[in-house]
Amino acid sequence: MSSSLLRTPKSVFDRLGKESVTEAERYSVGYKAYLDAGKTERECVTEAVRQAVTHGYTEFQKGSNSKKLYVTQHGKSVMLIRRGKKPLAAGLRMVAAHIDSPRIDLKAYPLYEQEGFALLKTHYYGGIKKYHWMATPLELRGVVYLADGKKVEITPEPDDPILFISDILPHLGAEQGKKVLSEAFPGEDLNITVGSLPEGDEKENRIKLTVMTILNQRYGMIEDDFQSAELSLVPVGNAWDAGLDRSMIGGYGQDDRSCGYAALLALFDADEPEYTGVCILADKEEIGSEGITGMQSAFYDQVLEDLCETEGVTLRDVYRSSFCLSGDVCNGLDPNFESVSDKKNNAKLGFGPGVFKYTGTRGKAGASDASAETMSRLRRLLDNAGVCWQMGELGKVDQGGGGTVAKYLAARNIEVVDIGVPVLNMHAPMEITAKLDCWQTYKAFLALYNER
Ligand code: MN
Ligand code: MN
Repeated sequence: MSSSLLRTPKSVFDRLGKESVTEAERYSVGYKAYLDAGKTERECVTEAVRQAVTHGYTEFQKGSNSKKLYVTQHGKSVMLIRRGKKPLAAGLRMVAAHIDSPRIDLKAYPLYEQEGFALLKTHYYGGIKKYHWMATPLELRGVVYLADGKKVEITPEPDDPILFISDILPHLGAEQGKKVLSEAFPGEDLNITVGSLPEGDEKENRIKLTVMTILNQRYGMIEDDFQSAELSLVPVGNAWDAGLDRSMIGGYGQDDRSCGYAALLALFDADEPEYTGVCILADKEEIGSEGITGMQSAFYDQVLEDLCETEGVTLRDVYRSSFCLSGDVCNGLDPNFESVSDKKNNAKLGFGPGVFKYTGTRGKAGASDASAETMSRLRRLLDNAGVCWQMGELGKVDQGGGGTVAKYLAARNIEVVDIGVPVLNMHAPMEITAKLDCWQTYKAFLALYNER
């Protein structure tokens, strides 16, 4: 009996057998399609709403008695609500994930011409390793508001040309190679090359004119319209199966759309829930959950307050008895870079979603740090539902760190823990997840929404 005293880590495959691979494969088809449909937070919101409507969700109106509701915020974040049998006073079952991902944003006056090229000035968004985004195919996505206020969506067509950031050839890279990584690729140099053919017979800006002519013909834009635009460069292409055994997924934006999609699907699939389920797909996590669409915004509270009014209960009473999973990806143990991790505590691909009691940096600074009571509650919830999960730790102590939306929910007096899919290449143009983990993350969220 002594063996039962010791923890024996088991992968999803070893616990659930070959069947699990088939089920994870089935799950991954919808997940990859969601990644392909949403390369920006706006596109993720559009796709989430499209799916919600097919599942019978209607747009939230104050005083609405509908059981399935969605509400969007400036087209960049969305909250879905599924009313349970119990009154709101029993508390909500919430999953909060984010749908913004690191990318390269355009500046307000981006377009210029230099040495026979037209280029766009950029300011990167989120924590990136800049060299990942050079010499790799990029595409322009986002929205532009023209002078008259007309909204134009910029989405590439399948045959559209790629855009790119150039890098020094290795033959001339000796000086670049001597620099430390943080200085070798200055952010100011991440300029996007967009053209090289001249137009017209003016002395200056003939290539710039070519580019502006194309943008005008296609989108009705003039150069001043960049002032009222949100345009981003994101990696070209759809999500792939990864590995000869197709056990993984490679693709852009899996931080944190892997958790966002899992939460969305789990809310749809929940079985006549007892508690009211809430799925938040928030914006701006990568830059601190700021702004009117980020998790710190009062938007979420105000909508839920409106909901509370329908039952004559206060929001603070509802929050007090609510439980939230902060669905965000975690670092998977990378065999090429083991040294940054404490192998005894790092989440591994294929072992299910990683639960993080705390994140933060240097002595847990900035972490929500869930209590033992909250961990006990989550542990029983997941174990009773047969979910394969593991604990995780964001690298060795003092190695670095990071944050999630968890602390902004905790600040509202909502009990919250971080849990999410382990990822390799996090924040790179191509992030890697294991299909088994994505599927078990969905199972974890489903367990919460189905709590009795
Ligand atoms: Mn994240
Ligand atoms: Mn991130």
